[in-house]
Amino acid sequence: MGKCDMTKDFDIIIIGGGGAGLAAGIMARRAGASVMVLEADTKLGGATAHSAAVLYAAGTSTQREAGIANDTPDAMFHYVMTLAGWEANPQSMRIMCEQSGPALEWLRTLGVVFPPDYLVCSGVEEVPRGHPSIGLADALINTAGAEGVEVAYGTRVDKLLIENGRVVGVSADGTELRAGAVIITTGGFGNSPEMIREFFPTAAAHGDWTYAVHYAAPFILGDGIKLGQSIGAAIVGKDTGLLLPTSGLGKWIEAFLPPWIMLVNTNGFRFMDESAPYAVSGYLLNSQHERRAYAVFDEPTLEEASQDLRFADPYHSGAAMPTWEYSLLRASIANGKIFKAGTIAELAGKIGVDPLTLETTIGKYNADCDQNRDSQFFKEMPKRFPVRTGPFYAREVRASVIGQTGAGLNVNEKAQVLDQHGRLIPGLYAAGEVLGCTVGKRYSGGGMGICNAMVFGRLAGSAAAAESVGNG
Ligand SMILES: Cc1cc2nc3c(=O)[nH]c(=O)nc-3n(C[C@H](O)[C@H](O)[C@H](O)COP(=O)(O)OP(=O)(O)OC[C@H]3O[C@@H](n4cnc5c(N)ncnc54)[C@H](O)[C@@H]3O)c2cc1C
Repeated sequence: MGKCDMTKDFDIIIIGGGGAGLAAGIMARRAGASVMVLEADTKLGGATAHSAAVLYAAGTSTQREAGIANDTPDAMFHYVMTLAGWEANPQSMRIMCEQSGPALEWLRTLGVVFPPDYLVCSGVEEVPRGHPSIGLADALINTAGAEGVEVAYGTRVDKLLIENGRVVGVSADGTELRAGAVIITTGGFGNSPEMIREFFPTAAAHGDWTYAVHYAAPFILGDGIKLGQSIGAAIVGKDTGLLLPTSGLGKWIEAFLPPWIMLVNTNGFRFMDESAPYAVSGYLLNSQHERRAYAVFDEPTLEEASQDLRFADPYHSGAAMPTWEYSLLRASIANGKIFKAGTIAELAGKIGVDPLTLETTIGKYNADCDQNRDSQFFKEMPKRFPVRTGPFYAREVRASVIGQTGAGLNVNEKAQVLDQHGRLIPGLYAAGEVLGCTVGKRYSGGGMGICNAMVFGRLAGSAAAAESVGNG
């Protein structure tokens, strides 16, 4: 990237070549803009390329192909806002809901496949809106390349250039480039402990247990937030995001707890349906005393359930790693990471839970299992596994793995970045996980991250091109 003294090197500069950046780049190119994507990494794709690529969407052709004809963006909006406790930005959420379907249809035209039989309820919605996809990142990368989106790799933008209150370009390691508009699509901040402490304290509270599923995308460091802050952008959505449950037995992406465990808090009580989707399980775990719980199971359950593949990957996503798989569990018992005891009382002693309470909780659970029901939390299971025959086992569980960070920039309906006073910052757009207005109190379901990246990426690319092409 050479120093340039022209008024404008490109119509659009995009900071970050992940899902949102590539979607923005393609849209901007199609609107006639010259586009440069500056990517800190040596490759494109960001977290998007490592994701399970589930897209949350309503009213799609895929739903109709699966026989679901009655879903609407309106229904999706009411669902996500209710779950978010109306603490997300309604305008941003409305856009995501209305544009989720068009984004999916657009991705199909790029060659992305959404198998109808993969559709899942990826949150707690009544009709399935989680759309697992095949080939999403590759389609974006290939289309961007074929349509003339230029890319500079190994270019980590560290400054926004601003003149008379307008963003006019960027700087990376002292080298400047100018553009009619700049789009920030740098993703979240899950790989930065410092940013997590500041913007996601609930995650930081878990100390060594905290990491982000984004670890394979090294520059997910919150640069976009810092860039925005440096010129007075508002940062919203502090301490929101998705925290996934984990056994802590390995640095993997677990997302799901196995439904065959019985989960108790440190008071010895059950507190949730163990098969609850990750859209809600993390919040339930984090609201328990000491923000932790124990998965309890017995020997026959270990033998049978941990080898039952039905429980491994309910979203066909590849995201459920084999943490609760037989051989790892055996190894973890052997090395003491999983507590083992001959009696429930002894197990209770090992995990610091009142023995009488644990025995009572297990007694109720077992009686329910015998009647093939869960009278406390109404867990549905193809087969139930009581905690009855020793040895008995317990493993600590937390929700400390960051699936998505929710703090970031605030945007208007054209994806233009707003300042701390609610005024737009001319020349600056943003999309994707760098936004702070799209999660709210609860993550609505698997696919909202990709939905944000696709919807706001497309929107930002079109809007920025409309403003920038021919301008300057
Ligand atoms: C393993 C995993 C599974 C997931 N599964 C799902 C799922 O199934 N469904 C879902 O909705 N969400 C999922 N998510 C979350 C989702 O992938 C992200 O929210 C979404 O992809 C973010 O897209 P983005 O374009 O905003 O950021 P990214 O795709 O992360 O792209 C950001 C890009 O910006 C670059 N960058 C950062 N800083 C700079 C800088 N200063 N200068 C230049 N470049 C920079 C990065 O290197 C990166 O390439 C998953 C995430 C992971 C990691």
